[in-house]
Amino acid sequence: MPRSLLPLLTQFALPHVCLVCGRYTRAKLDCCPECEATLPTLEARCLRCGLGVERSMPMCNACLLAMPSFDQSWPGFERVAMTERWLHQFRREANLTVGRFLSDIYARRLAAMGATRPDLMIPMPMHVIDYCLQGFDHNRWLSKALSKRMDHLPIYPVLKLTRYIKKQHRLPTELRWANVRGAYAIRAMPPSTRYVVLVDDVMSSGHSVNEAARVLKKAGIERVDVWALLRA
Ligand SMILES: [Zn+2]
Ligand SMILES: [Zn+2]
Repeated sequence: MPRSLLPLLTQFALPHVCLVCGRYTRAKLDCCPECEATLPTLEARCLRCGLGVERSMPMCNACLLAMPSFDQSWPGFERVAMTERWLHQFRREANLTVGRFLSDIYARRLAAMGATRPDLMIPMPMHVIDYCLQGFDHNRWLSKALSKRMDHLPIYPVLKLTRYIKKQHRLPTELRWANVRGAYAIRAMPPSTRYVVLVDDVMSSGHSVNEAARVLKKAGIERVDVWALLRA
């Protein structure tokens, strides 16, 4: 049998293995229905930045005091030990089975949350140094995976980095804004673009997506949302 046919045949002939409990499942994704029902969800979140709020509050105090440049964020999972492990396997180990699983669940959750269809998706850009070190652009891969699950929603690498930025999670909060300020520029923008989403694997302080959204708004984009797998 030609080697190229093997992955195709195994995909259709063999059941998936649930990534949570390890059992075979006939579900169309790598998670059985029982485990899918127990996956960490996000309850009562700020509509703008996605941080946890009281149920009666549509937005957190930080957003009410200083509104972020992006209009709405749509985090998929709470950042707990299990989702943190999946993210590490996907991003650092390029485990595409985990990537596919996260994309499947996230696409379902976006639909369930009522996320509207943008004109295009913009993967948060990765610096060439990081790409060489990691060998894998996880945000671009994630965008492609979501596009496939969303009737081929267009992806366009609108943004580029103008300089190297340090890893935000390794910096104290007070230095994160300065780290990304002025670090994004528009590479090219398809005509008639009005509504875009930034695709990022994890949203922690939100400074990176906020700065990217600021640049996009300045360039005339009317609405910028953030799609992120995890919210710290
Ligand atoms: Zn399971
Ligand atoms: Zn907020």
